Amino acid sequence: MVLPAHIAQRVREAIAGGGVGFPIDDEARGHGAIALMGTIGAIWMLRPDGTFWDADADWGRPLTPLPDELRIIALVAGVRRFPWLAELLPMRPTDGTDCPVCAGIGVIVHAGSAPGSSGFFCPTCQALGWLSPVNPTGLPPVG
Ligand SMILES: [Zn+2]
Repeated sequence: MVLPAHIAQRVREAIAGGGVGFPIDDEARGHGAIALMGTIGAIWMLRPDGTFWDADADWGRPLTPLPDELRIIALVAGVRRFPWLAELLPMRPTDGTDCPVCAGIGVIVHAGSAPGSSGFFCPTCQALGWLSPVNPTGLPPVG
């Protein structure tokens, strides 16, 4: 992904500033990146050059490129930590439809889970909460 210059600059500034001050921000800084999301066994990161990475020192997982199909989900997660990343998300088309799997919220929460439970990101719409009629799977076009 090619980052607009001003976004790349904000990524650099966020790295220099220690992210939002959590341990995952420290680990991400060690990789020259901001932490988009941290969960057990994984930290998803973005570098100023627009590359996405996955690692977790606590679990001994080395730095590896994040698979392409997880990039949008990683950005959706990252917007919660760095709202200015929202500019990088795809725009919902005017004829887009709410994702039926997650009811348009981008997150699937198991029935019976505690109120406020974060659930997990909807893989059908890549956590965007909508589907494009020309791309109903939500996945990027092949090729
Ligand atoms: Zn969905």
